[in-house]
Amino acid sequence: MQNDSFKPLIKAENIKKYYKNGEIKALDDVSLEIKKGEVVVIIGPSGSGKTTLIRILLGLLKKDGGSSYVLGNDSGQLSDDTYAQIGMMLDEAGLYDRLSCIDNLDIYRRLYQLPYNVIEPALRRVSLYDSRQKAVIKLSKGMKQRLSFARALLHEPRVLFLDEPTSGLDPATTSNIHELLFELKEKGVTIFLTTHDMEEATRLCDRVAFLNE
Ligand code: ADP
Repeated sequence: MQNDSFKPLIKAENIKKYYKNGEIKALDDVSLEIKKGEVVVIIGPSGSGKTTLIRILLGLLKKDGGSSYVLGNDSGQLSDDTYAQIGMMLDEAGLYDRLSCIDNLDIYRRLYQLPYNVIEPALRRVSLYDSRQKAVIKLSKGMKQRLSFARALLHEPRVLFLDEPTSGLDPATTSNIHELLFELKEKGVTIFLTTHDMEEATRLCDRVAFLNE
């Protein structure tokens, strides 16, 4: 029998995605497999289709061809149970501007039916505990990014999707996020990450895939 660790947790086969009635070929026959515990980085310049690929894998965008699976389930039909095992940090931060850091995490905590005491360690982990009462609108870009990251990790997902998590961040925040990613990798979390930064890709990943044109 095949060992579980050899089964791909994320799989894409011949994914196609066109915009503007086919005028823009965002993805043309993209295939990949990511196994449990792997950190795979997709690197490509702006406009190469990284966000499109991640959104298709997560079932947030329809594809025009091919098939994709996360945790063995078709991306287009992921159940709440499957989503509960997935963490995602996409480019739009998904935070409520007028709510504090604590209250933002509290919404997700309730959604995932987690105890209240998961919030404090989550904020400490991204060094935001001292800013816990601050409204998101008053946070710097790096702090928002860290809060988004804390939110993505709150329910201890098995698979993590991160779309350019360190884009535009200062070096200190970037290395803070990298350290957390290394910790997650040690714990066996499977990580799919996009970047346009070659140095970041080589630093973090087990495997790197290039997306171009
Ligand atoms: P990346 O994340 O690598 O910057 P994207 O997936 O955002 O790339 O975009 C890939 C290509 O598809 C680009 O040419 C972009 O302009 C185009 N594109 C993305 N989303 C849309 C959309 N909703 N409508 C039209 N074109 C789009």
